[in-house]
Amino acid sequence: MALSSRPDATPVALAAQQEVARVAMLPQTRSAFHCMREHEPRLAQWQMEMARIPAPPFGETARGEWLAEKFRELGLSDVYRDEVGNIFGIEPGKSDHYVALSAHIDTVFPAGTPLNVRQQGSRLYGPGVSDNGAGVTAMLAVIAAIRSAGVRHQHPFVFIGNVGEEGEGDLRGMRHIFSTPRWRDAIRFNLVLDGAGAETVVAEALGSRRFEVIVRGPGGHSWSDFGAPNPIVVLARAIGMFTAVPVPASPKTTFNIGTIRGGTSVNSIPESASMRVDIRSTSMGEMERLEQALRQAMERAVQEETSATEKKGSSQRRPFGLSHELVEIGNRPAGELDAGARMLQVIRAVDAQLGNVAQVQRASTDANIPLSLGRQAIAIGGGGSGGGAHTLQEWFDCSGRELGLKRIFLTLLTLAEAES
Ligand SMILES: [Zn+2]
Repeated sequence: MALSSRPDATPVALAAQQEVARVAMLPQTRSAFHCMREHEPRLAQWQMEMARIPAPPFGETARGEWLAEKFRELGLSDVYRDEVGNIFGIEPGKSDHYVALSAHIDTVFPAGTPLNVRQQGSRLYGPGVSDNGAGVTAMLAVIAAIRSAGVRHQHPFVFIGNVGEEGEGDLRGMRHIFSTPRWRDAIRFNLVLDGAGAETVVAEALGSRRFEVIVRGPGGHSWSDFGAPNPIVVLARAIGMFTAVPVPASPKTTFNIGTIRGGTSVNSIPESASMRVDIRSTSMGEMERLEQALRQAMERAVQEETSATEKKGSSQRRPFGLSHELVEIGNRPAGELDAGARMLQVIRAVDAQLGNVAQVQRASTDANIPLSLGRQAIAIGGGGSGGGAHTLQEWFDCSGRELGLKRIFLTLLTLAEAES
């Protein structure tokens, strides 16, 4: 997730502060904190065990099975896997208003990536060890603490290891959960755990639209078919026009041409060429405007290349056949949590209670889906610290994980109305 912050000067609501203080004083909470501290070595083991199971986008089954097994071992009820591979486990309560804690189980690493996962002191190394090893481990740590301390709560919990957060996964796991009759309206609050740390609160969903743009032409020999339309040149023309479109600094809006492919050899006019384009904004309107600009740039580039071909006078010899299409390969909706939302008040009160300084940020996470539907959701880290996400040099440091776990625990138990 890419982050950007906004200044945050909202005072912490007094009522929320009192609620959090009450939950923090419960004897069960103290015993849960003790459990989380005691079990740090076990947590590091779980984290490495999970990171050793490959979970490329659309290939999360084995890791999901591992998680379901852990959910059962920890005593959750109704543990199941849905049609797309999300894993669920329930801790019942007295209402049917669920508080969800979710962490994505997929990684960016393609199948076959060597998963060399190892520990040196308090540091864990290996692909996916932090993103989202830290999030899933924190979820398991909190489940274990709730269960072993026998915390009672008004509202039930649903714990979710979801698929499809990264890249081409395009939030498919979350999208599915929030389109399912069982969960769509039942989840009142969704706390998303993504990566390490305890210094951020993602309450604004950065939207993105991604396209694969494909141009096809008749192709030909560079010498004998000279003048035939060239798909690579069409892309080059379109890129020139599209990247000249101004974007506002606020709401921050960006674009990127991420990959470009095409052609077969230096002496062939290519039959096809393609590029991948990423558009991001916190505003749905700006994303739509840029999408239109991209479509117009493509239309104009095709027209220009067509008339250039006509001028070269080679159109009679070969069929034109210049065509293009835009295929949507990603669509993450934008949205944001209302400044007065209960969930935001609770996390801010929890941070005040723990003396933790955190900034409200904007990012693209699993929380985009509930936020875009007007539901309350935030994304936070699983504690500790981490770096090198999405690289083979990824690391996680367990030191200070406890603060992150307490933060998650207090937020959940306040939202679920813990009872003594
Ligand atoms: Zn992640």
